[in-house]
Amino acid sequence: MKKLSARAKITLWFSIALILIVLLTYILIFSVNHQVIQKTIRDNLIETVENNVDEIEFYNYIGKDDFENDIDFFLQYGDVYLEIDDDFLDEVNQVYTALYTSDGEFVYGENIIASETAKLEFSNSSVQKITVEGELYYIYDKQLEAKGLEGLWLRGVVSETQGEQDFTTTARISLIILPLLVIAAIVGGFFLAKHVLSPIKQISDAAAKIRQGDDLKQRIEIGDGNDEIHQLAEQFNGMFSRLEDSFKAQQQFVSDASHELRTPVAVILAQCELSEQKNDGKTDDIKIIERQGKKMNRLINDMLSFTRMELNPQRYAFERLNFSELCEMLCFDMSLIKEKDITLEAELEEKIFINANSELISRLISNLISNAYRYGNQNGHIWVKLESEGGMTMLSVRDDGIGIAREEQQNIFRRFYQSDSSRSSGGTGLGLAMAKEIAQLHGGEISVESILGQGSTFTLTIEKLAK
Ligand code: ADP
Repeated sequence: MKKLSARAKITLWFSIALILIVLLTYILIFSVNHQVIQKTIRDNLIETVENNVDEIEFYNYIGKDDFENDIDFFLQYGDVYLEIDDDFLDEVNQVYTALYTSDGEFVYGENIIASETAKLEFSNSSVQKITVEGELYYIYDKQLEAKGLEGLWLRGVVSETQGEQDFTTTARISLIILPLLVIAAIVGGFFLAKHVLSPIKQISDAAAKIRQGDDLKQRIEIGDGNDEIHQLAEQFNGMFSRLEDSFKAQQQFVSDASHELRTPVAVILAQCELSEQKNDGKTDDIKIIERQGKKMNRLINDMLSFTRMELNPQRYAFERLNFSELCEMLCFDMSLIKEKDITLEAELEEKIFINANSELISRLISNLISNAYRYGNQNGHIWVKLESEGGMTMLSVRDDGIGIAREEQQNIFRRFYQSDSSRSSGGTGLGLAMAKEIAQLHGGEISVESILGQGSTFTLTIEKLAK
């Protein structure tokens, strides 16, 4: 359950609730309806028989006129006569009524299960049950008490399935309609949940983009609205704006500070030169000051170009760039560095084009190659390889230098991070952070593979343009 999305959870919960409600409704419809129908059938039976009681009369003698003018029915019963009124209902709503003598002899009326009920004793004013061919019948007997009618019985018969038909049609319709409604509600709910939850997805996507790419310009766009989700999105956007503002202010400060520091550092370095001329050579103190001054100068320049790039990336125009030629040029220039007698070999696929800013991309590649020199071993090697696969191109810079410990690999792209072993290397700790930033600005990414003591490979992956 924990792994399910919020959308799936909501849909699942209300689907289960709906199905339970429908099942409960079915049970209620079936049981209540069944009971009501059974009671109605029995009441109907009793009422019909009771009404028929009054429709039977006794006569000692009947005149000729009585036979001719009356539409009622007369029949001889022993020495006397019985008059069955025309209101006597021998069949109404499938309730059958018949008149019997107390010996069970049929006198008048209708009984569809006469032979089966013949064995059944008369039981005054009570409902009995009998099953005939799997069908249940209710029987209601009534003893006639009027003068002259003693010893006669009325027997009413009705089948249990009478009236069931109407019920089963209702049940059948509800059996089809209710599940259809449930399915419609579940499908509707599924899409509604998607609709309601999509802004949350947008919020989380925007937050993820900010986290991955440090892109504080991201905003959540979910249109107009005043519900809780819109308020949440608004709060998030407000937070992103404030973060962006304070981050910009911080970058601006670093940029301004670096800029201001340039002049004093330039003056210090110039004074070192002057003192060399005065003293006919540099003293040890001056050498230390000059070395640190130069390091500070590199740091200031790196910080300045980094913050400028971040504050104003649009000043770097992108163009269709022949990546193969650019790499070849840089490899040639840098192979001239005669550091630790390291040899640089290049294997470059031709005619690879990318959409890039040549100044930034050159800075990225030079950073990787200078690191390979800086952390390479005496008489070591650097291999630069440019290749492409699918729509992507990969530039890798491999060395057989000191390598990077596994636990340090995730830190080396952070600003000012330097491993302990490389603190005295003269670097500033900003090279890889800048390389990563440049790669992201180009929609690409940079990765590292390294084994301590054996060497490292840095790979830039970037989309290539058609030839
Ligand atoms: P730095 O100016 O110190 O070189 P970077 O940001 O370029 O700063 O690199 C950060 C750290 O990553 C370095 O201090 C070093 O420890 C490690 N590193 C970078 N490139 C290599 C490499 N080719 N071989 C070994 N370690 C490297």
